Amino acid sequence: MATAPLFAANMILNQYAESQARSEMEAMGTRYLQRAEISISSTVTALQRLDRDDIQTCDAADRLLYQKVVSTEGVIDSIGLVDASGKRMCVVPDMELTGEAILPILRQDGPLVGIGMLDRSFQGARAAVISWDLQNSYRLFAEVTPAAIAIDPGPEFLRAYRRAEIRLGNDLLWFSVGGYNSEGSDPNDTLVVNVASKQYPLHATIVAPISAAIQAVQPLKVVAAAACAGLALLLVAIGVWISWRPESEANDEFVAAIRNGEFIPYYQPVMDIETGKLRGCEVLMRWRRPNGMIVSPGQFMAYAESTGHIFDMTRHIMVQTTEEVGELYGENPDLKLSINLFAGHFLDRQIVSDIQQIYEKSDIAYQQLVVEVTERHPLDDMDRARKIIAELQALGVRVALDDVGTGHGGMAYLQKLGVDIIKIDKMFIDTIGLDDNSTTIVDSMVELADNLGMGIIAEGVETEEQIERLLELGVTAAQGYYYAAPMPASEYIAFAERVEEEERERARLAAEADAAEKSAEAGALGRDAAA
Ligand code: C2E
Ligand code: CA
Ligand code: CA
Repeated sequence: MATAPLFAANMILNQYAESQARSEMEAMGTRYLQRAEISISSTVTALQRLDRDDIQTCDAADRLLYQKVVSTEGVIDSIGLVDASGKRMCVVPDMELTGEAILPILRQDGPLVGIGMLDRSFQGARAAVISWDLQNSYRLFAEVTPAAIAIDPGPEFLRAYRRAEIRLGNDLLWFSVGGYNSEGSDPNDTLVVNVASKQYPLHATIVAPISAAIQAVQPLKVVAAAACAGLALLLVAIGVWISWRPESEANDEFVAAIRNGEFIPYYQPVMDIETGKLRGCEVLMRWRRPNGMIVSPGQFMAYAESTGHIFDMTRHIMVQTTEEVGELYGENPDLKLSINLFAGHFLDRQIVSDIQQIYEKSDIAYQQLVVEVTERHPLDDMDRARKIIAELQALGVRVALDDVGTGHGGMAYLQKLGVDIIKIDKMFIDTIGLDDNSTTIVDSMVELADNLGMGIIAEGVETEEQIERLLELGVTAAQGYYYAAPMPASEYIAFAERVEEEERERARLAAEADAAEKSAEAGALGRDAAA
């Protein structure tokens, strides 16, 4: 878009340069002609004065007076007499007369003033001969110095490239300067300006290539280019602004989605892998679009965090957990509910008061709550984070370090933060059984957790084999598709009941088996007794 104004600016500047050059060239031509006119006029005046003073012969006395005029009139190189045939009769300063005509043959009906050209030249100008007719068919003549006209007016940018010519009549060249030749070059690329004298049959022709004219506006073009670059920037800025508008629309849409309660909690069970009992769940956010589509946090979480909408969304999610699973948790005080927080939550204690406000009067006790903070992204202010964690822990809320092994964790980090639980990232669970190294990593994580008195949860468990290995390593809690994917509240409640039912069933079967065994024993005893 920015090239269009640049193009236009170039065109305008080129046109400007051309018209500017034309008027410069016209002025040049006019100045040449003025010089020529002045030198002719003053020469004619000097000759007329001699005639009027009766100084019109080749006598020594007259020649002395001619000499005086030559030395006083700057433009006159010599003065003398020619006869009717145009041949010199005498000349001052003295020189050898060649006998050739320097002026045309006298015409009785012609003008009193005649102008001719000599071959003598200086800097492109030839010496002009001005004659004044006397009564006796002789003519006084004066040679005009070529220096009188060999000037070079005009601006530098044209002087380097132009060609200037002054002609007498139609074809008698008086002066020419500059090598540029319009012939042979494209007339479209050439400027030609003609100026004619009003006093004498003189005309000046100035020729210059357009490119020379355009050179003069080169600095202006730089300015224009800069201006266009500025304009381009502005356009880009406008473009960015325009392309940002959908962003702000997207933002409006996002805010509306928050207000409409489109962000909902899903619940993923966390299991005790030794007993098969439900330990609780992790709350994972979902965006349920009005059309029923369920969007995963990967699609919106980064945006929610970077815009700060996540604070509202997290509050919403927490409120919903009290409504959806409050009863279940009220009835099962051992169940844990784990909420994901992000680094921004650990910058001020707002999260502490949010949790208090939301859970204080709910059926979910602080002791049932876990907050997760990821190791993936560093916490900006560790001291502050530590204080907030301590405050939460003082309420009875536990803190888990999520995605352990993926970030800048390390032993020091764990100790400094004072977390209660570590969650081993799926990455390590995936390689269990495949790779001895990661088994070793999990091993040392388990050891670390034990030493620090922390609980440990394996994330992303998908196979029975992984469960077996985890048990061998001493891990007792896990979540993953092997047990269940994240699910809506109603399903989670049903899941909890099912596990409970299975548990009861197991207990009943065990009791039955126990009873059967006991009665079998009793029977045996009876038989024994009977026997
Ligand atoms: P995360 O906290 O590490 O959550 C575990 C992720 O692993 C979840 O992805 C879960 O659905 C997935 N997962 C669980 N078991 C398995 C498994 O066996 N196999 C596989 N392949 N995946 C499994 P999800 O729900 O898409 O969440 C992605 C991330 O989004 C979460 O990772 C968490 O960092 C973030 N997130 C989710 N909900 C919230 C929230 O309410 N607040 C914040 N701040 N972040 C959240
Ligand atoms: Ca998590
Ligand atoms: Ca995780």
